Amino acid sequence: MSDPVRRVLIVGASAAGLRCASRLARLKPGWHITVVEAQDSFSYAACGLPYVLSGDIARADDLRRTADGALRDQAYFGAVKGVEVLAGQRVTALDMERHTAHLMPADKTIPWDELVLATGARARQLPGQPEHERVRAFHTWEDLAPLLTKLKRGQIEHVGVIGAGFVGCELAEAFGALWGAQVTVVEAAPAPLWAFLDEEIAVLVARTLAANGVSVLTSQPVESVVGQDDHVEVAVSGESIRVDVAVVAVGVEPVVELATAAGVRLGPTGAIAVDDQLRTSVPQVWAAGDCVEIKHAITGDPFRLPLGSLANRQGRTLANVMAGRQDRIPPAVGAAIVKLFDDQVAFAGLTRRQALAQGIEARSVWISGHDTVHYWPESKEMALHLVYEANSGRVLGVQAIGEGEVGKRVDVATQWMLQGATLVDLVHVEHTYAPPFAPALDPVAVAAMVGLNQEEGIEALPPLSSLRDVQLLDVRHPEEREARPAEAGSVLTMPLEQLRERRGELGSGPWVVACERGTRSAEAVRWLTQQGVHASYLGGGLRWRALARGETP
Ligand SMILES: Cc1cc2nc3c(=O)[nH]c(=O)nc-3n(C[C@H](O)[C@H](O)[C@H](O)COP(=O)(O)OP(=O)(O)OC[C@H]3O[C@@H](n4cnc5c(N)ncnc54)[C@H](O)[C@@H]3O)c2cc1C
Repeated sequence: MSDPVRRVLIVGASAAGLRCASRLARLKPGWHITVVEAQDSFSYAACGLPYVLSGDIARADDLRRTADGALRDQAYFGAVKGVEVLAGQRVTALDMERHTAHLMPADKTIPWDELVLATGARARQLPGQPEHERVRAFHTWEDLAPLLTKLKRGQIEHVGVIGAGFVGCELAEAFGALWGAQVTVVEAAPAPLWAFLDEEIAVLVARTLAANGVSVLTSQPVESVVGQDDHVEVAVSGESIRVDVAVVAVGVEPVVELATAAGVRLGPTGAIAVDDQLRTSVPQVWAAGDCVEIKHAITGDPFRLPLGSLANRQGRTLANVMAGRQDRIPPAVGAAIVKLFDDQVAFAGLTRRQALAQGIEARSVWISGHDTVHYWPESKEMALHLVYEANSGRVLGVQAIGEGEVGKRVDVATQWMLQGATLVDLVHVEHTYAPPFAPALDPVAVAAMVGLNQEEGIEALPPLSSLRDVQLLDVRHPEEREARPAEAGSVLTMPLEQLRERRGELGSGPWVVACERGTRSAEAVRWLTQQGVHASYLGGGLRWRALARGETP
């Protein structure tokens, strides 16, 4: 049977749209594939924009070149991919009966047999955000040049970054690291990256920012932003902060106007509802990328996950499906990573807060571990928080921060979470081990073991718990105690080695046992519990608390 030629119109020439177009053109070389893009610049890696600002990437143009140096412009897509890109043209109207789209400013109408909405997301604005040259978003290629120019001219000495999400954190580093600008981050939530992290890790993120000279104001919703001739006034908590430029980075919202006009159903998150083959509710209309919602692997609920990694994969899957191949988008857990000065911050799955809000009986463990064996000279520490469901041991989420290979650990946990793994599964994760690259027991496996211990009654307390009203049993050596005294209402010091011989001093408890990283204290708690002494221990150890306070470990 002959394959009828289809006219495919894709709206949006970014990750999802162009990935779909390019693959579809490979699979169906006879089809007419047109991509319409409202901006003049397209096919640039938006994810790289903060690193151009920071100077890590010297030439902005590299963001729109292939690894072989080819510029991904209209000529490239025409000649190499067989795809027509109409840039600087916005689809302003769709005729769903005639299957046509109207383009402006060309003022022309083009027909389609299949329509792909890859309209992405736009930067959210603050309520009442002024249109002002000094109050800017950082979302597109066009947003880069004005800020870079000002930085190069020395016109930005103090910048206000509103929002401490992904982009806000990346910008805080970019403005400070290369350009030496004073950076004030204003965040309405209690800590940075609050949508992805529980408090224990989030405070360490705040500390990294502070340690690198960024001033972070949390739990402080911005009351107003007023642009003046030569500065901006950002009002928070009744006070005004004077900055040269305010960059608003308060998240993104899906671009769904065309979808709505086409009668396409939106889901509960406000993004386009699609099935697992990226079909919308309207026949011959498909959607992919930041404008759609997908299924969460743990909750089963729709959620929005505006990530380039997913948009690219969805574009490819959509091309496969449109070409008649069997392919699906699986549910996701939202694995992501952020560079924060020397640290990596990575996370996936639910926070404990989110899991509890879902009615899941979530529990946590915290470990202070290393990315290689601890005796390797370049070994780096990491703080890792694992969230799991009580009793079943189902792994719900992971969050970690450190200078070493944090992302690798979150990637491993992510794959297991996607399979519905339990703590027992994580304990048995097979991983590559040699001293320069990993410990024999990898941090993810150790966290799972700690979780299993906790299910047996070796209870960990959150690292930031108040110790004011507890009896603390410090099982460290004297020199460790001197270097970092445990701040608690009442402290009995007894190195782990002396526990058995000094059992008589311990009565029946309850004790909170503490050591440097949580390892020795967990061991002590098991023994004490076996002796009938009530005891729990400080998860992550005193080191985690010290990091949270900004003390050098
Ligand atoms: C600063 C920054 C850093 C990021 N860092 C990361 C990262 O490190 N990791 C990660 O995974 N993700 C990151 N992202 C997110 C990632 O860039 C997006 O997830 C990805 O670009 C989404 O691709 P998309 O094709 O769905 O949509 P978009 O990139 O939003 O593109 C949609 C396109 O559609 C066009 N369009 C919309 N409506 C119309 C219309 N009516 N007519 C014509 N054209 C239209 C728009 O102009 C736009 O170009 C970052 C994003 C930004 C802004």
